[in-house]
Amino acid sequence: MSVGTLIVGASQAGIQLALSLRDAGEGGPITLVGDEPHAPYQRPPLSKSYLQGDIGFDQLLLRAPEYLAGQDISVLTGELVNWVELEGEGPSGVALTASGETLWFDKLALTVGASPRRLAVSGADLDGVMYLRTANDAAKLRQLQGEAESVVVVGGGFIGLEAAAVARAQGKTVTVVEAADRLMGRAVAPVVSGFYLDAHARRGVTIRLNAEVVSLTGRDARVQSVELSDGSSLPADLVIIGIGVMPRTELADQLDLVCDGGIVVDRFARTSNPNVVAAGDCTVQPDWRTGSGKVRLESVQNAIIQAKAAAATLAGRVESDLPVPRFWSEQFDLKLRIAGLSRGHDYYLVRGAPERESFSVLYYHDDALMAVDSVNAPGDYMAVQKALTQGSTIRAQDARDVSVSLRELIRPAPAEARRIRPRS
Ligand SMILES: Cc1cc2nc3c(=O)[nH]c(=O)nc-3n(C[C@H](O)[C@H](O)[C@H](O)COP(=O)(O)OP(=O)(O)OC[C@H]3O[C@@H](n4cnc5c(N)ncnc54)[C@H](O)[C@@H]3O)c2cc1C
Repeated sequence: MSVGTLIVGASQAGIQLALSLRDAGEGGPITLVGDEPHAPYQRPPLSKSYLQGDIGFDQLLLRAPEYLAGQDISVLTGELVNWVELEGEGPSGVALTASGETLWFDKLALTVGASPRRLAVSGADLDGVMYLRTANDAAKLRQLQGEAESVVVVGGGFIGLEAAAVARAQGKTVTVVEAADRLMGRAVAPVVSGFYLDAHARRGVTIRLNAEVVSLTGRDARVQSVELSDGSSLPADLVIIGIGVMPRTELADQLDLVCDGGIVVDRFARTSNPNVVAAGDCTVQPDWRTGSGKVRLESVQNAIIQAKAAAATLAGRVESDLPVPRFWSEQFDLKLRIAGLSRGHDYYLVRGAPERESFSVLYYHDDALMAVDSVNAPGDYMAVQKALTQGSTIRAQDARDVSVSLRELIRPAPAEARRIRPRS
């Protein structure tokens, strides 16, 4: 008798995997188990509209519970899986939860995501020091932000800057502390980092670059200030820490799956044990263009694409779509849209007018277009996405001319650039 598929991690990747598996014709039981107390919900609004108070929790839900019941997908919430074991090499096995549930399975998928990297300084456990990963974190932050006057954000990445923008829009005194010499340094070119530095400053956010937090101090267990290595002290009644995430590999380690900065998967979402699949923020995968290397993509789009590939693999088909990677960020009225991956570029150009807060940065490698970061320039973003999807390019010498739309400048890519894109 089939005991069914167990998907550990009930969020963006997990729910997509469950739905895609049903679509693929899986008729057996599907159980989605997650340690959070909620049904699967979207995380991006946690640092945007939900934190701002514009929407409520119900609007975060990815699917209504009745819909999942209609698909015969069981969702177990509030259950941490802390042990998993395969019979031989699998695919069947058993998982145990912290509350003592035993979950037998015929097939196993890990969609366990990532957890925030902790700030390792004294005082980091004081009240009023918050991370932002879950709906519970965001709900608590909403409440604390309402009462706070001075907010310090540690980390100048996407989540930290989005949270800073929300706090500032609510009239708080906001300082962002970043250890590196520029903002969002892992993702965007220096020109985009510099633009955001100035844009936040224009809206009243203070940004401290090259600044190292050495301790947090407080009174009666509540945070009161953030101490920096240059001796300065920033008053704070709320500290938001956004210094990156760590993929959750505990269960993969129990199963002896190869992990290297995340659970290593191929483009069909197969782990080093081909009987076990994994998808989403917990994984590293080959670069979408070259088919080699180990890339970690923390995005909704990636969670969905990998979950679809994982479902196809579990259903016995070897399928994977390789869309152009996409990401977005919203800070104040600035909408950043990213298509492609810019790492490894050898030059970039700026199109448009940063001073008017509408521009794009196009990245190239060997004269082939690789990626775009667009700020309030959706037409450029769409055009580059289209070019990359087709395996085409937009020549750098043409792209600066804003009187011509990028869509009209799409041309066939040099043969060498087309060759390195793997076939799906
Ligand atoms: C504040 C915020 C803003 C974001 N903004 C954007 C954005 O603008 N654009 C974008 O593309 N992406 C954004 N992201 C990233 C995006 O939300 C993630 O890439 C996506 O949620 C990944 O989905 P996932 O299912 O892989 O992992 P997760 O969403 O992390 O879900 C994994 C789930 O598994 C559970 N779990 C882990 N281990 C166990 C276990 N042993 N037993 C049971 N349950 C377990 C976790 O608690 C969690 O609920 C944002 C993320 C955050 C936190």
